[in-house]
Amino acid sequence: MLRRLGEIPPTAGLPLQAADLLPRGDALTLRLAAQLGVPPLQLTCSGTAALLITLSTLSELAPGRNVVVVPAYTCPLVAIAVHRLGLRLRLCDTRPGHWDLDPHRLAALCDERTLALVPTHLAGLVADVETPLAMARACGAFVIEDAAQALGARDGAHSVGLRGDAGFFSLAAGKGLSIYEGGLLVAREEALREALSATARRDERAGCRQELRRSLELVMLAALYRPLGLRLAYGVPLRRALRRRDPVTAVGDVFPPEIPFHRVGRWRRGVGTRAASRLPAFLSANRARARARIARLRELPGVIAFDETSGTTGSWPFLMLRMPDAERATAVLARLWGSGLGVSRLFAHALPDYAYLADRIPQTPMPHAADFAARTLTITNSPWLDDTAFEHIVDVIAHTLG
Ligand SMILES: *Cc1c(COP(=O)(O)O)cnc(C)c1O
Repeated sequence: MLRRLGEIPPTAGLPLQAADLLPRGDALTLRLAAQLGVPPLQLTCSGTAALLITLSTLSELAPGRNVVVVPAYTCPLVAIAVHRLGLRLRLCDTRPGHWDLDPHRLAALCDERTLALVPTHLAGLVADVETPLAMARACGAFVIEDAAQALGARDGAHSVGLRGDAGFFSLAAGKGLSIYEGGLLVAREEALREALSATARRDERAGCRQELRRSLELVMLAALYRPLGLRLAYGVPLRRALRRRDPVTAVGDVFPPEIPFHRVGRWRRGVGTRAASRLPAFLSANRARARARIARLRELPGVIAFDETSGTTGSWPFLMLRMPDAERATAVLARLWGSGLGVSRLFAHALPDYAYLADRIPQTPMPHAADFAARTLTITNSPWLDDTAFEHIVDVIAHTLG
């Protein structure tokens, strides 16, 4: 068994440097838009806030529509945001063994009440947007690409987020580039971009207290986002949750009902600006490491290691594995989840199975999503996971397969 002092984070976040924290002019959205090759980006205080802005803008454009269709396997914040606006949440089961929206289920959810479909680029891999887009066009609904986990992922020659009507990225801690909490909105059409900015100007608060708090949290993130600090900030609470058999807390899937909604201050924008200059090199190193490791994982019989589909490029925050059955996923996690090596689950459950959200999420069974949640696990793509530690993980999985 490997013994190490530090803790490897479950996703490949870009580590901050001391110099990032020095005051500096703000060019965050300009720099990222240039790197990604996208139209002007709108900065928000979180990915969830970006989704709120998009949904309220779209509901004003289409007043007769109030149904938002989201995948049954996704971040609970997406469901919380839809509920928060008083819109009607409808879950779409995923296609078997995957996180893409199941086209057969989707067809039944598209009608004259449907406001938006939310295909989701999980694990930094490009989801099928074409199918939901065609169905949305046929019924007059919009498509919002949830690219919270996919900053830097490319669909053909373009960034994700541009096929649908709008898309959003997350700048939360652990999601690639981070200003502790933040989000980016992208939209292809200028008219919609203007409407999205107008909504933000109207609804966002200055939020000085929130911003002060986020700034302190960002200083702590810069200080602790390294293996020794993460042992304290991430490893200790993780192992406590695992001892209590509380996977929802272990994954970090417990969210408060209120969604902060304020402007991001100049200092945090400056920190993001400095860190963003290292993002392209960081992503390309992560890609090379991920591709080599995916090839290695594919040698394991019965394990599916999700890879880029043809013509797409992932951003690779972590590697996603589907085990032959739930028992073996649980067995691997029993050995590795608390081991400090960055092995985890992505989400604890399919959306209907979070007890704390039962009053906000339709309790319709979602068999594919539930099966997918039970059979999958993630391996970090953090540069701190060295080859020896990765091989140890591969050995544990191989041993579990028998
Ligand atoms: C993290 C995440 C969000 C929410 O983004 P925040 O910046 O944390 O608000 C939405 N969707 C998915 C798939 C996510 O992983």
